[in-house]
Formats: sequence, structure tokens, C-alpha cells
Amino acid sequence: MNKGLLSVDEALEQMLAQAKPVADVEQVPTLEAAGRVLARAQRSTMDVPPMDNSAMDGYAVRVADGARLRVAQKVMAGAVGKPLEPGTAARIFTGAPIPPGADAVVMQEHTKVDGETVHLMRQPKAGEWVRRSASDIARGAEILAAGKRLAPQDTGLAASVGIGTLPVYRRLKLGLFFTGDELVMPGEPLAPGRIYNSNRFTLRGLGAEFGCEVRDYGIVPDSLEATREVLRRAAKECDVIVTSGGVSVGDADFVKPAVEAEGELLMWRIAMKPGRPLAFGRVGGAFFIGLPGNPVSSFVTFLVFVRPFLRRAQGMSSVEPRAIQVRADFDWPEPDPRREFLRVKWNAQGGLDLYPTQDSAVLTSTAWADGLVDNPAQHPIGKGDAVRFLPYSELFR
Ligand code: AMP
Ligand code: MG
Repeated sequence: MNKGLLSVDEALEQMLAQAKPVADVEQVPTLEAAGRVLARAQRSTMDVPPMDNSAMDGYAVRVADGARLRVAQKVMAGAVGKPLEPGTAARIFTGAPIPPGADAVVMQEHTKVDGETVHLMRQPKAGEWVRRSASDIARGAEILAAGKRLAPQDTGLAASVGIGTLPVYRRLKLGLFFTGDELVMPGEPLAPGRIYNSNRFTLRGLGAEFGCEVRDYGIVPDSLEATREVLRRAAKECDVIVTSGGVSVGDADFVKPAVEAEGELLMWRIAMKPGRPLAFGRVGGAFFIGLPGNPVSSFVTFLVFVRPFLRRAQGMSSVEPRAIQVRADFDWPEPDPRREFLRVKWNAQGGLDLYPTQDSAVLTSTAWADGLVDNPAQHPIGKGDAVRFLPYSELFR
């Protein structure tokens, strides 16, 4: 049954072997770096915290001095205290530096104040409620690895050690077009036999989600000349071209001859469901990936093949999604001879529910779902089995 079909892993391996990270690096303000891929590891040039400071509002004390102390000073965050004289305490606030000589902080809730005297109701241990200098980050330590797509908290971390600009890879230019004489844009009347171009929305959204600069060439009619023309244009302007439709070998499928005429192409039949046909090649300086036209197939093949390819081409160090083992709360007694990507939803009991129709034309399943089960070929699933779950939260990173 799978004769002549290529496995998902073999296809992906061949694609990734060719993907090279964009070489151009640009320096951007840290404030604008979220979502970009870090080109060089970043190290801290300072200790964090830079000095011992208080983790609480309370009193800085010397443990050996006992439980009755005169309050001799007050240290606010941003100020610097004086050395602690024997028998005294310093009123101190969260984040304020520990005065020299103090070795613990007593929470204010554990004290009683009587005029200028503070009574400690609990004997503190040395080091209590003191955040040690360099306990978070030591000077010289790596804080961000190269090849990481920067999340907001990463830019916050860079800023916390005073890094004002970051080296990032240039954004990848992703060209998209959609083949099919039947396609119509929403807002236009739908003549009999025509369908709306939903792939344009799904694939463009995914491209943007993955941090690409998307160039959208719109609908391309089913003709060799039109397909060749848009390919030539896109190849000049883009790093990667992704298309939907026209990769079967029917009468109206011009992607194969067009790419072969303008560049080079591998046509694959992949042992997966949904999404059998896939094209991979080059046109000029651009990579070409042709996805099937079926809306669910193009969505799933984008996540399975285009996503890791784009990550590698963007300079990211990890390209494979992390999967988790989750309990199936459904039966799948008649599995396909091909590896299947099932649309599932995480239920309140921590298990997975299956969308009732797994037809590759039913786009509803992708919107309803919050992830895919990656089910091996010929592998039946029974209620309660652990399955390999790829949540959208992971696939969309
Ligand atoms: P194809 O791969 O071109 O044979 O298309 C397979 C199926 O997907 C056909 O039913 C097409 O009408 C449909 N299709 C192709 N392109 C799109 C698109 N951009 N949006 C929605 N459906 C599409
Ligand atoms: Mg078509």
C-alpha cells in the first residue's frame, strides 16, 4: 500500500539537509527584538543582582546581636546603607541593598516595634531573606543562546543586564501563491463550482506566525505560462516560495512542469494522511515547496514540513516540535496504512477528544482542534492509550 511513497522523516531530512540559515545579521534595538532569531549568544557583563539585597520589607540585622535592637537607619530600594553598628538594625525594604555588617533580614511581620527599638519575635538564620549578589546571573555567564527566537521575557532578560541592542538574523522572505481556477476571494460573489481561497488566509497567517516577511502573490490561474511567470517573479524577491494546489498529476496541475521549466524539482508522494503530494525544489536563488490544495492537507503539511524548514532557514537551533504523551479519550480502531495526523482537542480531564470527521476537506476540524496526534501507520488507538500529541502551542512557535 505504501509502495512508492516516501516517509515523512525521509522527506523532511532531505529538505532540512538543503536549508541553510540566512547569513545576514542585523543589530536591532532590544525593545524591537521580540520574535526575531538571535544570531549570537549573549553574555552578561554584570552580576545580577549586582549587590546583596533584601527579599522582604523588614529589618536587616546581625544574627549574633540578639533579639532587641535599636533601629539606627532606614534603607530604601535605590539607596545605599551605612555599616551596621553593633546592637542596631536597619529598617529595610524589598530590593534595597543589605548594609555592610548585616547578615539576615527579619520580615516585618515577625517583629514588634517599640519607639526606636525593634523586638525580633523569631530568631533569624544567617542569610535569611537576603538575595545574594550574582545568585541569579554571574558576570560572564551566557544568558541567551544563539538560534533562539526571542520571546518577550528574553528581551526583558537582555535588558536586565543592560543590553540595548541585539544581533538578529534578517527576516526570511516567504513568497506565497495559490493555484486554482476555482478560487475566489471572500467578498466576491461565489459562482457555481467556485470555492473561496481559504488557504491564502491559513498559510499567510502561518507565515507571519513564524516570523517571516510574507509576499503574497495571490491566486494564480491553472496555466503553465501564468505559473512560470509568478515563479520567476517570486524567485527574485523571496528566500522560500510556498504554494498550494496543482501538485497532483491531473490535467490542471501545472506546478510540476512550471518549476521544472524554471528550476529543479523533486515530486514526492508522502506516506502521510492528510497530504500525500508534496513538491520540493529550487527556482533561482529561492527554495520551492509545493503543498497540496486541500485545506486541511496544506495546513498540516505546512506544520510538518514548512515549519521546520523555515526554522532552519531562519537560523533557529531547534526545528523539531516537542511532543508530549497524552491519554486518548477516543477509539481509532481502523488506522490508515499511512502515518496520520489527527485533529484533536485537549479536554478538561487532561485527555484528548477526536474531531468526528478526519476528512482532509473539512477545515472545521483544524479550527476546532488544539493540536495534532501523530499516529504511526497501521497503529490502532484504544481509549486510555497514550498517544503522541503535538499541541498547536508547540507547533506555532
Ligand atoms: P489541487 O491540489 O489543486 O488538486 O486541489 C485539491 C483540492 O483543494 C481541490 O478541491 C481544490 O478546490 C482545493 N483547493 C485548492 N486550492 C485551494 C485554496 N487556496 N483554498 C481552498 N481550497 C483549495
Ligand atoms: Mg488545483
